[in-house]
Amino acid sequence: MLGVLSKFQKGLEKTRSNLVGGIQKVVSRGKLDEEMLDDLEETLLLSDVGFETTEKILEQLAEQSRKKNAATAQDIINLLREQLVQILTVNRSDINTQKPHIISVIGVNGTGKTTSIGKLAHLYLKDGQKVLLAAADTFRAAASEQLAIWAERVGADCIHREPGSDPASVAFDAIRSAKSKNKDIVLIDTAGRLHTKSNLMQELSKIHRVIDKEIPGAPHQVLLVVDATTGQNGLAQAKEFAKAVNVTGIILTKLDGTAKGGIVFSIAKQLDVPVQYVGLGEKIDDLQPFDAQQFVEALFK
Ligand code: GDP
Ligand code: GDP
Ligand code: MG
Repeated sequence: MLGVLSKFQKGLEKTRSNLVGGIQKVVSRGKLDEEMLDDLEETLLLSDVGFETTEKILEQLAEQSRKKNAATAQDIINLLREQLVQILTVNRSDINTQKPHIISVIGVNGTGKTTSIGKLAHLYLKDGQKVLLAAADTFRAAASEQLAIWAERVGADCIHREPGSDPASVAFDAIRSAKSKNKDIVLIDTAGRLHTKSNLMQELSKIHRVIDKEIPGAPHQVLLVVDATTGQNGLAQAKEFAKAVNVTGIILTKLDGTAKGGIVFSIAKQLDVPVQYVGLGEKIDDLQPFDAQQFVEALFK
């Protein structure tokens, strides 16, 4: 079994060589002057850190470097690391621990919702929680089946209906079942949708309304799944989602598949929603709870 840090390291391989490799090369030249700041800017942008976030990071870096008299390349790297951790540290609201705890998982098609639910279920089960999955993606025939396969793999119960059923009714049945069977966690899979499809966004509201009627205040978490390989485009989508739905956290998937993992800094800074989990591969234990300090440490190791 890999430790958490080495798991992060492995999953972040591409971003590490792109982003941190680039930073080290630039910084090794010595003094933090205008030219070095320009080159750092280019390096950060190439990793998809995004313009606004990059400016913020470099502004802070220049200020701190003056204040603390950064003299060596290592001083500059240390200050940069501090800035990166700070950007990732978004205020997390306390997560309600009422049982059953309802988590709705939403996002665009193909981002990794169903897979992430399977992995999340695995994490919760390892932690001794009783987990129920709800296949509220009734839109595609294969979707329920895919979730049912995950349920079997991880050993969780799963509520599913024939394709075309009302997704709100699947959610409703799942909540009733979770109550009667004393489940701790309900993970609700939903159909992929773009925030621009108003009928689908209404369907999502309806699912959430039905859940709230059964358990006031639920869903307790709404996790938006973002595919890291879609870069700034994915970020733009996420922003629109966050306007339409009360998103409580982000699952950033497929970090293993991109050299542009710098997107994580953009997301934390611009959405003001915490990244809760990151996907680092397709296997069952390739989802990691996100920790800013650990993440940056793994990048620079
Ligand atoms: P959904 O449409 O949002 O439910 O997406 P799926 O869960 O069906 O996932 C779409 C594809 O992305 C599948 O082939 C998954 O195996 C893959 N996938 C999901 N998460 C990750 C990840 O963290 N890393 C990699 N490499 N692939 C992932
Ligand atoms: P409205 O449809 O938005 O007016 O809200 P409702 O509260 O009447 O129900 C919303 C959806 O929740 C329904 O279309 C059903 O799919 C589901 N639902 C509500 N009550 C029940 C129920 O008693 N059993 C089942 N299976 N589903 C229900
Ligand atoms: Mg799916």
